[in-house]
Amino acid sequence: MSVAEREPRLLDGAGDVEHFDVLVVGAGISGIGAAYHLQDQRPGTTLTVLDALPSHGGTWRTHRYPGVRSDSDLFTLGYRFKAWPGDPIATGEQILSYLGEVIDENDLARHIRYRHRVEEASWSSRTNRWTVTAVNLATGETVRLTAGFLWMCQGYYRHGKGYTPQWEGFEDFRGQVLHPQEWPSDVDLRDKKIVVIGSGATAATLIPAIADEAAHVTMLQRSPTYFMTRQNTNDLANTLRELDISPEWTHEIVRRQIFKMTEEMRAAVNGNPEQLRKMLIDGVRAQLPEGFDVDKHFTPAYRPWQQRLALLPNGDLFEAIKQGKASVVTDTIARFSETGIKIGSGDHLDADVVITATGFDLSVLGDIDFVVDGQNIDPPGLVTYRGIMFTSLPNLAYVFGYFRASWTLRADIISDFVCRLLAHMETLGAATVVPTLRDNERDMSLMTWVDPENFNPGYLMRSMHLMPKQGDHEPWTWGLDYPTEKVALAGADLDDGSLTYG
Ligand SMILES: Cc1cc2nc3c(=O)[nH]c(=O)nc-3n(C[C@H](O)[C@H](O)[C@H](O)COP(=O)(O)OP(=O)(O)OC[C@H]3O[C@@H](n4cnc5c(N)ncnc54)[C@H](O)[C@@H]3O)c2cc1C
Repeated sequence: MSVAEREPRLLDGAGDVEHFDVLVVGAGISGIGAAYHLQDQRPGTTLTVLDALPSHGGTWRTHRYPGVRSDSDLFTLGYRFKAWPGDPIATGEQILSYLGEVIDENDLARHIRYRHRVEEASWSSRTNRWTVTAVNLATGETVRLTAGFLWMCQGYYRHGKGYTPQWEGFEDFRGQVLHPQEWPSDVDLRDKKIVVIGSGATAATLIPAIADEAAHVTMLQRSPTYFMTRQNTNDLANTLRELDISPEWTHEIVRRQIFKMTEEMRAAVNGNPEQLRKMLIDGVRAQLPEGFDVDKHFTPAYRPWQQRLALLPNGDLFEAIKQGKASVVTDTIARFSETGIKIGSGDHLDADVVITATGFDLSVLGDIDFVVDGQNIDPPGLVTYRGIMFTSLPNLAYVFGYFRASWTLRADIISDFVCRLLAHMETLGAATVVPTLRDNERDMSLMTWVDPENFNPGYLMRSMHLMPKQGDHEPWTWGLDYPTEKVALAGADLDDGSLTYG
């Protein structure tokens, strides 16, 4: 793969098809990071980034509901190469600004084409290239580009539409139904009776943000979630800033503090989950009014961290409950009525507005049709190499971040790995690389993309059968914690026989 040319070249004999060394799908955190690292670590590489949305940011552009914010800190949800200047938890707008600065400061905009939805990627072993077919959503035109390497930064869910279960009588409901992922700009919730279905991070964020203007907000949950409350401030960062320590140093030192705290949390989960469980629940109890039924509404049946732990800055959800602006109902939905929801107990929850904070639909590889030498690729038939590449898919990397730590930590180290792999290919004079099970691994037992015993949120459980598989040993597994994987990826032997070059 050439690294000498800056401008995309035209393919000989292929009309005006533009060719790039690397084509990145997605201009969210992962895709912007991929473009930055490529430019930084592989200067001269020709690249383009395609995204279906009208501008950058992915998740943080799609989600526009009131109060939208991160639930992990921005020292680690931010990149390692750009200091975060604010408080740990950030609003969607602040994250978009930060990402916009990364684009501007590194002149990345010239590489990004928005409103381009990729529909097919077809690999030819004759040309050693991917042909990527996209629709230009602004003009309706079909666009074809070729690339030597495909870097999939498509995130993990469908951006176009959220997940809404089919409830009995749902169509009878005469009020307004809103999904946080498809939030209109002109919603008026003033003095409305609102039921929010769900109790994940999205519900917990939305409820305090709308509780003041609404007549009342009821959080209707089938089962409780763990919450952890923190002041939205980092004392160490504040001290370092007061001492005029440079933003870069402050960023790095605070990241190290967070890694240490995450390790302590992991040790607590593995060592004494009951103690951690009690600590979390006691923490919630302390913030709720005397006599509140914490056992029923805030005591989950699962182990802490089997699903993402929602962080509540300043306990704002509990504050709304304490002030009587919000309440919690833990029950099933029997059916919808014209005026609300009849729940399992037989009670009826009146609602002018129902907000379905019921999550997303998993998207495997951006819902793109993959074809290799004329054969359609079925993702569940693939085995992953370190959660980054797949058997049968040459010259392709994929970004799937951590569940329990910030997504970007993994995106950054995957970028390092991909840049190292591209450099290695150049040294070898190889045009192709594809993960290949070695002879003694062909009968290796395969496991789901994620072990449900370890982590089991609804969106994964509904769609795990659509995802590629893991093997039972390295390098066919993924999902180590950040400090371990950082070392493992940096030291991964690229010539151990699990990657075939051509
Ligand atoms: C509400 C919400 C809050 C979250 N909070 C946190 C948090 O606090 N901490 C954390 O670590 N994680 C969080 N996450 C997970 C979050 O998705 C990641 O942190 C991160 O933003 C993912 O970045 P990404 O670039 O990989 O994917 P995305 O943000 O999903 O971006 C993917 C981009 O790819 C584009 N794309 C996909 N398919 C195609 C295609 N076929 N053609 C063209 N373009 C395509 C999409 O349009 C999108 O712009 C949150 C997720 C949600 C939904």
